[in-house]
Amino acid sequence: MKNTYSGIREQRRDTETYTDWGGDSFTAGENFPKRCLGRAERVFSQGLQCQQTNSVMALLSMEDAAFVLHSPVGCTGCCCMANDWFRVGQIHRGQYAMKNARVIVTNLDERDIILGGEEKLRKAIRLAHERYRPKVIFIFTSCSSGIIGDDVEAVVSEVSDEVSSVLVPIRCEGFKSKICASGYDAAFLAISKYILKDVEKGETEEDLLNLFAPPTVSYIDQVEIERILGDIGIRVNYIPFYSSLEKIRKIPNARASTAICKVFADEYMKELYEKYGIPYSHTIMPIGTRNTDKWLLGIAALFGKTAEAEQYIASEYQKVRHLVEDLRSKLQGKSVFITGGTGRSFAAAALIDDFGMKLVGIETPVYDNDTQGDIEYLNKLYGNFVVDIANMMPYEQVNLLNRLKPDVFIGVPVWAAKLGIPTTHVLDIKRPTMGYRNLAYLGSKILYQIENPGFNKNIAKHARLPYKKDWYEQDPFKYVKRS
Ligand code: SF4
Repeated sequence: MKNTYSGIREQRRDTETYTDWGGDSFTAGENFPKRCLGRAERVFSQGLQCQQTNSVMALLSMEDAAFVLHSPVGCTGCCCMANDWFRVGQIHRGQYAMKNARVIVTNLDERDIILGGEEKLRKAIRLAHERYRPKVIFIFTSCSSGIIGDDVEAVVSEVSDEVSSVLVPIRCEGFKSKICASGYDAAFLAISKYILKDVEKGETEEDLLNLFAPPTVSYIDQVEIERILGDIGIRVNYIPFYSSLEKIRKIPNARASTAICKVFADEYMKELYEKYGIPYSHTIMPIGTRNTDKWLLGIAALFGKTAEAEQYIASEYQKVRHLVEDLRSKLQGKSVFITGGTGRSFAAAALIDDFGMKLVGIETPVYDNDTQGDIEYLNKLYGNFVVDIANMMPYEQVNLLNRLKPDVFIGVPVWAAKLGIPTTHVLDIKRPTMGYRNLAYLGSKILYQIENPGFNKNIAKHARLPYKKDWYEQDPFKYVKRS
């Protein structure tokens, strides 16, 4: 059946999707396949990541591009962070004459909310073209432009005759989805509709892989991933992070597709399969030896290189074995609580087993078919552990951490550090995390934090979390109400 995916993750037809739930991994693993996990909503919520941010971040590093945000100025807040990644990424790639991303915001105000903002959008697109002459201009919608019903596509079609740039409107209003990965999907749907619409599939390049990379992959991880694939004779079309219009147009000619992150381009790869017959591998993020093995074998199978990959994996493991064993001897038995995006959380959860550590809790923004596979795998490794399906709910996190008292916390460290728990981060866009050579880095970061807990202990002595003592005694999932 033709995939008519809307770009809203909650509306996918091939999986149930949960964004609000709390309990244990055995219950989750048992009830999800029976479709009786239990629909729930949080009646108190501290924040959600906006999908517009993900659409912008996915494309911001593209060469010869400009970006128009049709929104109030506040929606551009995260562009500063994405621009910082872009600047650092350029230096890492040897582009020392560093540039800023070319972002223009229409700055919708109260008057536009009443009278409409289409004229401002026209002007912004013309300005982006006049100022930068980019090959492509991406235009991002926002809650405000969506609510007032500005006809962004009509403006784009009207202005397209006046400019030489390809215009790509992206429907990424923040309110459309509670799952910020929908923002990635919105970006890919727009690429398909506005960049690839006239591109015919050429001759298949037999050794070429579309490698979809999210903006959170460090350059050293890109190098490692390309090395691994190159070693078994697979060439990479690395997209859309640090790519170009030309590389996007090459997508239909690849022999196969995969993504570095599990929730990046997973839906889009289905579309490429339906439209161009390009097979894809969707396994896990290549963090840790077993995950990297699984990820590589998934790709190798599409290129008829399974035996070669198996041999390669064995030789790579020999090279890093002493590092893993050394870390294992120091980290064995330590307990871990993990939070992060779905891809990284579950990949890190499998990685810590390489070091003999034990998972006691995990926070994931989403629970769907993919998560179920991960939970079943982790249940076998660790037994029962806490599962919090939540997107940035610090009040639940601190309550859980206070109960579970893990030896180390992996994730955004702000709140765990104030409890005095050693912390580190798996989402590190400037440092190594993936593949074989880089796996020791995260392990040694964890070890360093455990051996040097003084900083967080001092923070805990002097910084107070805003919750009353009473909250720590209550059910952490008190505000998750079953319907
Ligand atoms: S698009 Fe909506 S959710 Fe996103 S930053 Fe703007 S107002 Fe907030």
